[in-house]
Amino acid sequence: ATPTKRSYNITLLPGDGIGPEIISISKDVLQLAASLEGIEIKYQEMPVGGSAFDLAGVPLPEETLAAAKQSDAVLLGAIGGYKWDKLEKKLKPETGLLQLRAGLDVFANLRPATVLPQLIDCTTLKREVAEGVDLMVVRELTAGIYFGEPRGFGVNEKGEEIGFNTEVYSVSQIDRIARVAFETARKRRGKLCSVDKANVLEASMLWRKRVTDMAADYPDVELSHMYIDNAAMQLIRDPKQFDTILTNNIFGDILSDEASMISGSIGMLPSASIGQSGPGLFEPIHGSAPDIAGQDKANPLATILSAAMLLRYGLGESKAAERIEAAVMETLNRGFRTGDIYSAGNKLVGCNEMGEQVMKSVDSPI
Ligand code: ATP
Ligand code: MG
Repeated sequence: ATPTKRSYNITLLPGDGIGPEIISISKDVLQLAASLEGIEIKYQEMPVGGSAFDLAGVPLPEETLAAAKQSDAVLLGAIGGYKWDKLEKKLKPETGLLQLRAGLDVFANLRPATVLPQLIDCTTLKREVAEGVDLMVVRELTAGIYFGEPRGFGVNEKGEEIGFNTEVYSVSQIDRIARVAFETARKRRGKLCSVDKANVLEASMLWRKRVTDMAADYPDVELSHMYIDNAAMQLIRDPKQFDTILTNNIFGDILSDEASMISGSIGMLPSASIGQSGPGLFEPIHGSAPDIAGQDKANPLATILSAAMLLRYGLGESKAAERIEAAVMETLNRGFRTGDIYSAGNKLVGCNEMGEQVMKSVDSPI
């Protein structure tokens, strides 16, 4: 059967540091995988972060946000660098990224943590603990204590200075992230663990109740609950027990960083941030790595795998996504490694060559 012609617009946001290098090669990989599946993609490249500040005086120009909103998905490199560290807060590159997330209203952050058999020696965990780990953290991104009101500084009844924040979750905020997590678990191994602190926090008690109620809609998903303190421990003790983890903003912030350490290199891990209906934002979890920028040393695989997530979660094009993921595996099997994942006996390559090798595998899988 001839595949139907599907056509999408994608906004590319290279950003700063290694961003332009990893986006350039990831775009080529994305383009090749898409065309092999009969998908047409138009690209629009826009500035964001420090490079946008240099160009336009702000870290997120209006035109950049407008272009991102009008597209079907956004692929971001990385933002930030020493050069802009001393700017006032509202001009900092990082502020541009927060504004972009808010502007796209992406409330669900998906971060896989996988231990690839080819990279088992890169993880700090014991082999028998690390082997076969394949989990996904679904983190709520736009509510909770990072946004809750009231917040601020003040004085208590004893006249002592205080700082305070508020953890708030509404039913609709819980339900929409829970739904993403159940859907994600359903497409994976059908296991969902919701992480909270329902023994202490009211926001968590409501969270647990709503998640438990929603389970009725997903008889095919096996739901469990875990307290955050235990989950932080279990993630190191026996990470294989997890498939999909659902959690709130602050717990997810910590757990997803913890999970990323299990898998060995920060240069391997993609992420997706998705909203209700608008375009999703896809980016590697690592930063702009200014120490190696412009030297063709960066590992492009986190961004290439982010492009795969873009295809799967952003466009619903799973077959093209699988092509990319399989090509990454094959490239590792063929022994190609950037510096961050290099071990003796492998072939050390730069960012560009790594991407070229992935393209070779996309083109003619073994
Ligand atoms: P941010 O503050 O933006 O989250 P960061 O400054 O904490 O980021 P990164 O920019 O991610 O951290 O860099 C941390 C270390 O990891 C650096 O030594 C960097 O060179 C390395 N690194 C990050 N990404 C990659 C990559 N894709 N390939 C190789 N090394 C990387
Ligand atoms: Mg940084």
